[in-house]
Amino acid sequence: MLPFLKEAFANPSSPHRSGQRVKTALERARNQTAAALNARPGEIIFTGSGSEADSLAIFGIMHANAERGNHFITCAIEHHAVTHAADRLRRDGAEVTILPVDGDGFVRAQDLGNALTDKTVLVSIMHANNEIGTIQPIAELAALAHERGAYFHTDAVQTVGHISADVQVLGVDALSLSAHKFEGPKGIGSLYIRKGVRISPLVVGGGQENGRRAGTENVAGAAALATALELSIAELEQTRQSTASLRDMLIDGVLRTIPGSSVNGAREQRIPNNASLRFADIEADTLIIGLDMEGVEASTGSACSSGSLEPSHVLTAIGLDTKTARGTVRFSLGRTTTKDEIVRLLAVLPGMIEKLRAMSRTLVAGS
Ligand SMILES: *Cc1c(COP(=O)(O)O)cnc(C)c1O
Repeated sequence: MLPFLKEAFANPSSPHRSGQRVKTALERARNQTAAALNARPGEIIFTGSGSEADSLAIFGIMHANAERGNHFITCAIEHHAVTHAADRLRRDGAEVTILPVDGDGFVRAQDLGNALTDKTVLVSIMHANNEIGTIQPIAELAALAHERGAYFHTDAVQTVGHISADVQVLGVDALSLSAHKFEGPKGIGSLYIRKGVRISPLVVGGGQENGRRAGTENVAGAAALATALELSIAELEQTRQSTASLRDMLIDGVLRTIPGSSVNGAREQRIPNNASLRFADIEADTLIIGLDMEGVEASTGSACSSGSLEPSHVLTAIGLDTKTARGTVRFSLGRTTTKDEIVRLLAVLPGMIEKLRAMSRTLVAGS
């Protein structure tokens, strides 16, 4: 990033040499990003975030293909970047179908098949869920959408840089990603949009990003996104395996040593870095404060919705009632997580849970 913040700060749209040098760097970042997804450079749009990539895909494809119809399909456990876009489409007159998920968080192909009509313009189903980690069978779902002539977008913010996210293998028309989910900086994301798919810009003005997102480009961000992605992918298999084995050590350790504990989401089809665990008779909000004091940083729900008192829509959709959902803590692992850290967590967690349960029993008895 630093060269583009310090010396190479010319505008990439400027025809002079300094501008063209910056333009070259931007196009290099586009080539790297395309290569990471098995896409073509012209199919990559840089955006300000993963949320913006989702908005651009959903509003942009629905708007540009309105002559086909106005039906949009998504599922009940999407990130708010998608669910709130669906809400807005509905308010603006579109027909919106929200598919349910099963107890592990999977969309059933049959439900999608039944929902598709000749008026369906776009289906948007996330590659993996950010709260419970379940990986959807995207290739199968996208093929179904295509059979009926609909486009398919996937929010792959949780998978790009962590597991294989090849747009040809997935068979998707659009895919969102965000740099800060693979150790890049915050405030830069990207949308892959397959050549030939019509899309209207959200931001209009200049002709940047091939007329699909106006505004002078965040070159430092794009360069950093591409570099972080390239580094993540170079070590992807190694990181995936080591992280998944630490995750399993954590999940299995918790299930073995803590009565009344369960795992949310699929065990097999699961991103390597997510351990979503729930504990009966526990307020997760209290538990994570205690964990923080022990040096363990975890969260309830998603970072984007924490602070809200409503239970997570994801946990509700997999069938948990409000009280049960409130006992969920999400532990995120990463490239730098060590076995010692998991051992330490497993050493403190059972005692903390027992103490919290004893306290709430005392409170109930005393009230
Ligand atoms: C984080 C996240 C987003 C939002 O990405 P931002 O870059 O923070 O806007 C969207 N979808 C999923 C699944 C995410 O995990």
